[in-house]
Amino acid sequence: MFKLIDGKAHSARLRGEIRARAEKFSEACGRQIGLAVVLVGNNPASQVYVRNKIKACEEAGIKSFANYLPDDATQSQVEELVTSLVEDSKVDGILVQLPLPKHLDEKAILDLIPVEKDVDGFSEQNIGRLCMNRDCLVACTPNGVMQMLKAEGIDLKGKNAVVIGRSNIVGKPMAMLLLNADATVTVCHSKTENLKEICRNADILVAAIGRAKFVTADMVKQGAVVIDVGINRNAEGKLCGDVDFDAVKEKCSYITPVPGGVGPMTITMLLYNTVCAAERSCKL
Ligand code: NAD
Repeated sequence: MFKLIDGKAHSARLRGEIRARAEKFSEACGRQIGLAVVLVGNNPASQVYVRNKIKACEEAGIKSFANYLPDDATQSQVEELVTSLVEDSKVDGILVQLPLPKHLDEKAILDLIPVEKDVDGFSEQNIGRLCMNRDCLVACTPNGVMQMLKAEGIDLKGKNAVVIGRSNIVGKPMAMLLLNADATVTVCHSKTENLKEICRNADILVAAIGRAKFVTADMVKQGAVVIDVGINRNAEGKLCGDVDFDAVKEKCSYITPVPGGVGPMTITMLLYNTVCAAERSCKL
């Protein structure tokens, strides 16, 4: 019998803790914690993400500073805006919503965000620190997965963990976090040979690919923990993950659903990182 990992419940519990820390910060530092969000252009998915982040901030007692630039904003306009946020002492965290319009140099813009305000955990310094298992701001989605594994009491030490996907924002930091937690980690990607056999050996299987029903039951070991990071639309337009949930769940000890699994934790970990960044800057 499998156990469903309820991302909404884990998220609600953590958001309660975050709200309490945000209140404590306001009392101690005489101002609210601040998160600045930068959205360039009118990508509909990005607009929804930004709206959800702003709403989550309000509910957590974090002040959001929303900054919108038009689709044809120039590199220097975006850089000037980000620089002003870097210099603003009311801003504890800066988030530049990706993807940016194609004509902009994404790396140059992200590189302006100093490590202490990099609440997405995407900077080279934060990723380097993560690799060295040092204190850092960790990318929100993989950090959310770790929080759920920990809260469920899932033992990672010495276990075979397989991560499918090697992106800088999910797959790689996920692999590092599992390695730092003493798992034996294999990272698979689009060029991996014998993918099925590798996955069948996994005690913990994390799917971060972006293809519906990619992970089938014959890829999963009996009793495995399966974490589905994917967000896809199936033929009927319904939200689904990378895992063939109905078939795979019967083999699992734990599994995350989509929606309601990893997704809700991502914004929660953004709030968490913002609180951590603020507390560090205020030396709480
Ligand atoms: P990405 O496109 O950057 O990376 C996908 C990875 O999958 C690549 O590393 C690629 O090598 C691998 N891959 C592709 N085809 C493969 C194959 N046939 N066999 C093995 N590996 C293969 O995507 P990403 O940004 O890492 O996101 C992955 C998924 O997670 C997407 O569905 C995305 O929407 C979702 N996502 C969810 C959240 C969340 O909050 N739940 C956050 C970020 C991303």
